[in-house]
Amino acid sequence: DPGLKGAIKSLFNRKYETKHAVKGINFSIEQGETVGYIGANGAGKSTTIKMLTGILTPTSGKVTVNGLVPYENRQKNAVNIGAVFGQRTQLFWDIPVRESYNLLKHIYEIPEQEYKETIAMFTEVLNLEPLLGIPVRQLSLGQKMRCELAAAFLHRPKVVYLDEPTIGLDIAVKVKIRKFIKEMNQRWGTTVLLTTHDMQDIEEICDRIIIIDGGTIVYDGGLDEIKKQFGQKRVIHFEV
Ligand code: ATP
Repeated sequence: DPGLKGAIKSLFNRKYETKHAVKGINFSIEQGETVGYIGANGAGKSTTIKMLTGILTPTSGKVTVNGLVPYENRQKNAVNIGAVFGQRTQLFWDIPVRESYNLLKHIYEIPEQEYKETIAMFTEVLNLEPLLGIPVRQLSLGQKMRCELAAAFLHRPKVVYLDEPTIGLDIAVKVKIRKFIKEMNQRWGTTVLLTTHDMQDIEEICDRIIIIDGGTIVYDGGLDEIKKQFGQKRVIHFEV
């Protein structure tokens, strides 16, 4: 479809039963962009990401990721993407983290040398060494998130979706995670779409933000512009 270009292109509606969860969502993300997808609880962020990962099919409209329609090519799409979803894990619960990575290496058919280099780099940046011998079920939230991020980027996907990657974490871990995401984007040109309720994540990671409200996009652009629009200095504004 010549009208659909860019790393991610989407135009869709999605209803649950008869209620519209998202309506006329229309955005396009280029390869290498880092985009924050933000909005209140229930705004439609997860619904959008589920369509990008191929879990959900739009009621109408179309989504492409690197030219593929995710919900029609779930297998192929999986190779091009990485994802971290808040509470869920993509690692194997009962085996040491290192073994999980090994299994992912086989699943994604990552060449030995590339795998070694990637693991070495992730171990250093995310300080994984003390965690590699432990099963995921024994890790704290912050430890688990570091391991999940490494898994999401392990096969060097073109696009990574991160659903609240810093939620519930202390400042030190947040800083480490932000640095890691930024570094992956700069090193490999990975396109990153992340949801968060933490403005610091947006400021430090994202080139651009998309704001969704009630299932519709209300803003798409730079952070500076929106700060100007809403008045950065105005702490309290009261109008009756
Ligand atoms: P949060 O920040 O709380 O995760 P969100 O922005 O990810 O919220 P969605 O989970 O996409 O929001 O939900 C969008 C709307 O769709 C909400 O009104 C929600 O109640 C509704 N919804 C989500 N999943 C279903 C479902 N399986 N069946 C019916 N309605 C649903």
